[in-house]
Amino acid sequence: MEPKIPKESVYIDNVAYPVEYLADTHPGGDIFVKAFAGKDATTAFLSYHRRPFPHAKFSGNHKFPENMSSSVTPTNDANIDYLELCDIVNRVLPIHRSFAPVSYYIKLAIILSFTFGLEFYVHFTRQYVWYFTAPLGLFIAWTGLNIQHDANHGAISRHFYVNRLLGLTQSWIGGSACIWIHQHVVQHHIFCNDVVRDPDMEGSILIKFNPHAQDAPQYLYQHIYFLGVIALYGFTVVKDAISSLIRGVYFTPISPYLRPHMNLDLMFSSLFLMRWVALPAYLAPSLNTLVNVVIMYAVAGYYLSFFFLLSHNFADTQCHSPESKESFLYKQVTSSSNVGGPLLCWFNGGLNYQIEHHLFPRIHHGHYPKIAPVVREFCASKGIPYKHFDSIYANVVSTSKYLYNVARVP
Ligand SMILES: [Zn+2]
Repeated sequence: MEPKIPKESVYIDNVAYPVEYLADTHPGGDIFVKAFAGKDATTAFLSYHRRPFPHAKFSGNHKFPENMSSSVTPTNDANIDYLELCDIVNRVLPIHRSFAPVSYYIKLAIILSFTFGLEFYVHFTRQYVWYFTAPLGLFIAWTGLNIQHDANHGAISRHFYVNRLLGLTQSWIGGSACIWIHQHVVQHHIFCNDVVRDPDMEGSILIKFNPHAQDAPQYLYQHIYFLGVIALYGFTVVKDAISSLIRGVYFTPISPYLRPHMNLDLMFSSLFLMRWVALPAYLAPSLNTLVNVVIMYAVAGYYLSFFFLLSHNFADTQCHSPESKESFLYKQVTSSSNVGGPLLCWFNGGLNYQIEHHLFPRIHHGHYPKIAPVVREFCASKGIPYKHFDSIYANVVSTSKYLYNVARVP
């Protein structure tokens, strides 16, 4: 049983910091601190800053309130191997050079031009036809992979407002930046493939990821039909964003400090429904319009979920439990896999380098091919299994095998 942390505090190395105090002093922006209200942010701080938390800097501060606990538990043994790797990676890629290179902004401009431009063109000309909506779906997926993901990890720029603004593209394409930060940054990244605490292990009525989840007869065939049902992913993102923003819960309760940001996201969600439900129905009411709008979201959802699925569900993947004493480094590496190389990295926002991404979420994806050999060599020296697939096909076969096996775990 984990200790209960008051929601007004963020814990780092067993020191309770008041949320608002830490949020106000955080150079990377208040939203990341606020998202961790009531939670232990020790590993989050480590993996985003690649160094232990500077407690001394705060203890001498007179403004700091009394409720700081007297003893600092230093970053524990479970993180020593990770800090060792940080030192090596910092030599290859210093922290101040870890953000997006200038060339990235050309890609960003191309993707956003097509994402906004195609949408405007489709509405303006009322041409809700698949040869416009399907490519638009693809650009929506690329916006998600190449822009919002890095932005909401704080990895594009050292300036918070650049990341925050680009992170809102998640709310524009039908999701919610806040829900994503709560689901992905606060939960999935910290507890990757944790059978209790990773929301991405939850699955659905059609897919079982978690070996501890309840059985259902349809799961016995999921290793075949998963390549079809993932087309539904885009629709669940829109539905889940709206219901989570209203209820304030996604898998676990969302930090109440995010409420103002969540209200902004609710406005984005309303705008999205106006753009992609009301407007097409008003401008070109027909079954044909409906089908072609559905195609847009099926393409976007398919592309996104296809690659998400491959990276944490493969034959040799390891699931972890809250009781596991393995290090943060071990858990992150053994629950993720890489596929392909720099070309796929360019298209998929580096998420084919899932291992490096999970270890260093605040390194911009353009740098993953550079640090991957260093990470791989380090893991080999520590005897930590590091999985790389040479082709997408090999990864798909392995994922199918995992889904086959997990469906048969009683
Ligand atoms: Zn991520």
